[in-house]
Amino acid sequence: MTRDVESRDELPDWAGAKEFYQKYDPKEVIGRGVSSTVRRCVHRETGREFAVKIIEVTPERLSPEQLREVRLSTAKEMEILHHVSHHPYIITLIDSYESNTFIFLVFDLMKRGELFDYLTEKVTLSEKETRYIMRSLLEAVSYLHTNNIVHRDLKPENILMDDCLNIKLSDFGFSCILNPPEKLRELCGTPGYLAPEILKCSMDETHPGYGHEVDLWACGVIMFTLLAGSPPFWHRRQMLMLRMIMEGRFQFGSPEWDDRSATAKDLITRLLEVCPEKRLTAEQALQHQFFQSHQRERGLMVPPRHRFRIAAWAALACVRIVVRWRRARPVTSELLSRDPYSVKGVRKLIDACAFRIYGHWVKKGERQNRAALFQNQPKALLLTLGEDDDREAEL
Ligand code: ADP
Ligand code: MG
Repeated sequence: MTRDVESRDELPDWAGAKEFYQKYDPKEVIGRGVSSTVRRCVHRETGREFAVKIIEVTPERLSPEQLREVRLSTAKEMEILHHVSHHPYIITLIDSYESNTFIFLVFDLMKRGELFDYLTEKVTLSEKETRYIMRSLLEAVSYLHTNNIVHRDLKPENILMDDCLNIKLSDFGFSCILNPPEKLRELCGTPGYLAPEILKCSMDETHPGYGHEVDLWACGVIMFTLLAGSPPFWHRRQMLMLRMIMEGRFQFGSPEWDDRSATAKDLITRLLEVCPEKRLTAEQALQHQFFQSHQRERGLMVPPRHRFRIAAWAALACVRIVVRWRRARPVTSELLSRDPYSVKGVRKLIDACAFRIYGHWVKKGERQNRAALFQNQPKALLLTLGEDDDREAEL
């Protein structure tokens, strides 16, 4: 049930809430936002599970101005969700209820939760997994852009996963309709994922503004983070991090990128292109070689001539493995006690143990810090560019 924003004051208190509680049985909290709590809930009649986002709009907690703002932005979020919900890689809004004090948005339940938590668990993802996730994400983004919608808050926290690790894009709280050649100027999003043009436009009144391309920049940041396990732009001083973003200054450092393919790096470089006009569109990104190789991977129904070639490649690969194995440094107890972090398997183990103990990632060097992933504030954090944030998440 959707009602006009202006007539909300006349709603009988709890009317919508009662309706929701009659239909659904709310269970444990599965996520929290700035002014919302997300719970698992069960449809009483069918026993089917869903997720309900409960947005509090009580006058005790919010000023009249904030109340109006939350109601308006939720109405906008719902309008966009109704528009795009049927896409396979976008979260489905099933139902919505409103009372004077709460808004309930019922979504399909994504049991594995955020991609962010999945990445935290795995440290880094393989190229195959990254390809699968990025393809779905880019298809969702392409669909949004075709419908003149820009998301503006793409990040692993807003990408949800089901039991089979399929993803769906969620949280349309910052998204808006943008008909080209219109441009936006508002500074919003999450610091590490902001495109250079968003920052530049907030500092320069003569800047023409930004468009859909900001979502592709965020896709580049996400892809980098999935493969490296740490974000491309990070500095403990936020002002310096923003400068790195504006200059598009990032690197494929060692050892994280040693084993990664040139096509993966190329796609990231083309997404993290400072000039929005030169940056790949979602459609162009989907045509990139990184995804083409996947199609070949899937279609291993090959004719005999190709099979011979594959056999030859396999033999060559075996020879290379043997040569590398001979050249490789043996993992001795001396090496393990002197520099355990240099051994890939041990490195992963240390990272995972450290995370379990401390609840966040350990600093790896002056310029790379997985804690940065955990420093991104929710969307209430609109940047104050004059501030030089010197806080650091330390062990
Ligand atoms: P906000 O707009 O306040 O950030 P979100 O819509 O992103 O709120 O939801 C907050 C968190 O709740 C998400 O990051 C996720 O962990 C969890 N969540 C939201 N929707 C679902 C869902 N459909 N299934 C499972 N978890 C969800
Ligand atoms: Mg969110």
